[in-house]
Amino acid sequence: MAASAGPEIERLIGLLSKLPGMGPRSARRAALALLKRRDQLLLPLSAAMAEAAQKVRTCSTCGALDTRDPCAICADPERDESLLCVVEEAGALWAIERAGAFSGRYHVLGGLLSALDGVGPEALRVGDLLRRASAGSVREVVLALPATVDGQTTAHYLAERLAQASVPVTMLARGVPVGGELDWLDDGTIAQAVRARRPA
Ligand SMILES: [Zn+2]
Repeated sequence: MAASAGPEIERLIGLLSKLPGMGPRSARRAALALLKRRDQLLLPLSAAMAEAAQKVRTCSTCGALDTRDPCAICADPERDESLLCVVEEAGALWAIERAGAFSGRYHVLGGLLSALDGVGPEALRVGDLLRRASAGSVREVVLALPATVDGQTTAHYLAERLAQASVPVTMLARGVPVGGELDWLDDGTIAQAVRARRPA
């Protein structure tokens, strides 16, 4: 696409278009919204980004993002250190924390195994996970990975490796979502829900 808004603005659009969910068209709209709302949006956003770039670190224990290392969850003595929840990225950790249903600790893999993209275990935080899981205090590892081909491949690989450490491994249940109507669900979800049924 030919540059048409001047090099500074095109550079901004080019960077915005690299964000997830952003194409060239939505990046242009976002750039325009930022430039039109300089004081309310552009300046506070650039300050927040500079602050995040300076302060946010990856926790050397679990791989989560925080301004301190170890992160707030790893440093919290109230969290159950015998429960370890494995997630793909920090976004999944945030989602589980928002739900407020898990009181253990986390391990962020930093991705998923993918034969197609050539991602092997050495590219993820698998070695750290095995070390943490076999450290003695862990009595259950919960694999909270996506219900995709790569997610399930990764879960099976990790379950096999963790079995060698004799740590019980569980996976998140799959089935009918809260508020879900059965006739709106896809066949795969319904089949999983029927197989994973439990006593009422
Ligand atoms: Zn941590």
